[in-house]
Amino acid sequence: PPLLARLAPAMRPTAAAGAGAAPGLDVEALAAAIRDGCIEPFFQPIVGGDGSLKDAEVLTRLRLPSGAVLSAQQVIPLAESAGLILPLTEALFERLLAAKDRLSGLALDHLSVNLSVVQLDVALTAALVRRLVDGLQDCCGVRVELTESASLADSQSVRELGAQLRLLGASLAMDDFGTGYSSIRALAELPYDTVKVDLCFVAELFDSNKAERLLAAILAMCESLGLHVVAEGVETIAQAQWLCEAGVDRLQGYLFGAPMPLAELVSRFGPKT
Ligand code: C2E
Ligand code: CA
Ligand code: CA
Ligand code: CA
Repeated sequence: PPLLARLAPAMRPTAAAGAGAAPGLDVEALAAAIRDGCIEPFFQPIVGGDGSLKDAEVLTRLRLPSGAVLSAQQVIPLAESAGLILPLTEALFERLLAAKDRLSGLALDHLSVNLSVVQLDVALTAALVRRLVDGLQDCCGVRVELTESASLADSQSVRELGAQLRLLGASLAMDDFGTGYSSIRALAELPYDTVKVDLCFVAELFDSNKAERLLAAILAMCESLGLHVVAEGVETIAQAQWLCEAGVDRLQGYLFGAPMPLAELVSRFGPKT
């Protein structure tokens, strides 16, 4: 029987939210949007091999008063360069804490959040994560995703942050694995327990025999290091099937759902009343 035959019709791919050009978002507008509560968490399902919800990745969106939604690419780089990433992250985490009761109904293993490590303030960042971990402790675990370019920023503070996050009970994932020149080195430098294989590997999967062998080798390495693996950018059942047979434990991608507002996540994956 096809591995993902149990997929509900509602789990067919949907369009990514937030496409379109940013209508001239500048630093002042971003600062005001953060202050005014316009930062909104979207949630992308992360499923097990049977298609059931296991985790969710939190992806930032900015909801304009007009109702239009700006994507992370339209917001995060600006927040990073303008020194607004810490208040943005704090506003995002507050929304997650406020959503705790609705999130509890989903019985997630982990809620996964992305952290920027540009202009990293280790103490303040760790304090934000601690508040999230503590606040969600009877709801779900917290996973922090760092991109490997992270390790290049200021490796001493990133290492410090990684150690502190594990101490306070967060899981640590290397995001976009395989896209930088020092992925494997970075694996040794931080106490990662999870690897998120970049979507480019999944996209190239059936292009060549070489792509398949490369991905299989990455998965074998992760397994021998005891790392959990999440595959990103899964868009077809054929990809999902190959990945599960190759030993990937978690799948994420448009096949299972694009990032969506909490209400949609709950109505699609929450307890049926
Ligand atoms: P990411 O962490 O690698 O997130 C995955 C991106 O891939 C998301 O884009 C998601 O919408 C997209 N994606 C998911 N499934 C598929 C698929 O099946 N196919 C394809 N082609 N794409 C897929 P998004 O939401 O626009 O986020 C972009 C980046 O912005 C994220 O990349 C992450 O690095 C960053 N980001 C998002 N939210 C935050 C945040 O709160 N804080 C920080 N520091 N960075 C964030
Ligand atoms: Ca991520
Ligand atoms: Ca990624
Ligand atoms: Ca990325």
